[in-house]
Amino acid sequence: MTGHVDALIIGAGLAGLVAAGELLDAGKRVIILEQEPESNLGGQAWWSFGGVFLVNSPEQRRMGVRDSHALARQDWQGSAGFDRVDDSWARDWAEAYLAFAATEKRDWLREKGVRFFPVVGWAERGGYGAIGPGNSVPRFHIVWGTGPGLLAPFVHRVRQGVRRGSADIRYRHRVDALVLDDGRVVGARGSLLRPDNAKRGFASNREVVGEFELRADAVVVASGGIGGNQDLVRAWWPGRLGRPPAHMLSGVPAHVDGRMLQISENAGARVVNRDRMWHYTEGIANWDPVWARHGIRILPGPSSLWFDATGRRLPAPLFPGYDTLGTLAHLRSTGHDHSWFLLTQRIIEKEFALSGSEQNPDLTGRSLFELLRRLGPGAPRPVEAFKRHSPDFVVAATLDELFAGMQSRSPGIALDVANIRREIEAHDRALDNRYGKDAQITAMRAARRYPGDRLIRVAKPHRLLDKGAGPLIAVKLHVLTRKSLGGIQTDLDGRAIGVHGRPIPGLYAAGEAAGFGGGGMHGYRALEGTFLGGCLFSGRTVGRTIATGGHATGRASMRGV
Ligand SMILES: Cc1cc2nc3c(=O)[nH]c(=O)nc-3n(C[C@H](O)[C@H](O)[C@H](O)COP(=O)(O)OP(=O)(O)OC[C@H]3O[C@@H](n4cnc5c(N)ncnc54)[C@H](O)[C@@H]3O)c2cc1C
Repeated sequence: MTGHVDALIIGAGLAGLVAAGELLDAGKRVIILEQEPESNLGGQAWWSFGGVFLVNSPEQRRMGVRDSHALARQDWQGSAGFDRVDDSWARDWAEAYLAFAATEKRDWLREKGVRFFPVVGWAERGGYGAIGPGNSVPRFHIVWGTGPGLLAPFVHRVRQGVRRGSADIRYRHRVDALVLDDGRVVGARGSLLRPDNAKRGFASNREVVGEFELRADAVVVASGGIGGNQDLVRAWWPGRLGRPPAHMLSGVPAHVDGRMLQISENAGARVVNRDRMWHYTEGIANWDPVWARHGIRILPGPSSLWFDATGRRLPAPLFPGYDTLGTLAHLRSTGHDHSWFLLTQRIIEKEFALSGSEQNPDLTGRSLFELLRRLGPGAPRPVEAFKRHSPDFVVAATLDELFAGMQSRSPGIALDVANIRREIEAHDRALDNRYGKDAQITAMRAARRYPGDRLIRVAKPHRLLDKGAGPLIAVKLHVLTRKSLGGIQTDLDGRAIGVHGRPIPGLYAAGEAAGFGGGGMHGYRALEGTFLGGCLFSGRTVGRTIATGGHATGRASMRGV
């Protein structure tokens, strides 16, 4: 592609591709700069489970869920806990995003050919009061085809642009600086990295073989977050979550390196809320890793008993799948990095899902035949593979055997096996009545009143020591880095805000690099499925803003800082 360029987009992840698609639809010419080889096209979204937050969808209504914009707003506010001056744009982005998720998001995606699995998942259930954090109802809509299925129409649109000469994707182009002219961002310069045949997700070389500088009317930073850079995660780790773990798994590839945030700051952009992060506590080391310290997140149902590294049960409502950051804060206060799920074969079969497109070949491959196997006996094949190969799994016929296996996997930490035994026996005794005082059992029973949970997600409550439900299983869980909730502050048009509180002419940000919009539209906590959705919405907004000459919404952008 030669001649005038309307926009340079840094990053060929979902946000960058969506922005590019909007620009191409408006007849604009774009160049996407991507540090990785072509094999990585789509960035993190390709690996994602494809869970998308929708409000009051037909899928929810068919499952008997009554959702509304007002209820979603209440849940968002309860989770976000906005409390900073820096939240001013983030609050507006949250409102705009909620309206998108409650109205046109699903239709817009369907027009592009995206379809959803009919059973809506219930992520991040909360467990506090009605105005506390968490989803009051199921809202996690899984794309039929998972992450790759969501990416497909946007990849297709950009490839079409390449064929027609209005788009170009320059792989192995790593941006090292933004080019400024009289206070305006007019381009980007950086290093040409040596070509690399690395397969998707594998680290590629960083050998510099040349330089480049490109100019355009607009520059979009869509470079993702910081989750692959454990040094940065540790440096920005907030005190409210205790000390960062000495040992963490990485839930994202190495290219999620956070470099562009500093580079954008160097050009005058405001990076805010960098201490807000979304990391999981249900990480297991991938027995077949792609990237360094590759971890997979278990998306758990609510029935496993959760113990800290010494054998103390986690307090209510820190049940599996209820409160990600509450659990993280609690576990960080225990002084140990890992924790344990205790469960049965019957629970693992129904309640363990693994996040990631490659861990869900049935949904990713859109295979009804494979999907039906989920409903049949046995755990999904990828879960069984972990059970067989992963050193984090202990499978045993008796409690004594189980405890010995657990102890051997953390030899330096005394495990209070008497306490674990007492908890398990108490759990089993509590099942004698259909009511009781154990909040987790009450929560399990309540969950099964939602047809989706009863059908595929929550095992029938049963005694853990029931031989027919066995064998017993313990899973050693690690902290897994994933998402950055803060980032480059943007106004509602997606224009990057500078240190003086005004937009920097020529500079835009989208996706995780922009805290999914406004520099942190989630506030402190997320409702899940809002990250892919945040890339769609912020990428679309930025594309439309540039295509219409600088203002998609026409909202004033001057704010105090
Ligand atoms: C396993 C997994 C499961 C997930 N599941 C879900 C889910 O179910 N629901 C949900 O909502 N979210 C999910 N997510 C999160 C979601 O996928 C990401 O937050 C989102 O895809 C981020 O997209 P992005 O475009 O902002 O950034 P990225 O996908 O990180 O893309 C940024 C691109 O920019 C490039 N880049 C960075 N710096 C430079 C530079 N200096 N020069 C040139 N190029 C650069 C990178 O190489 C990368 O390709 C999941 C993520 C993972 C990894």
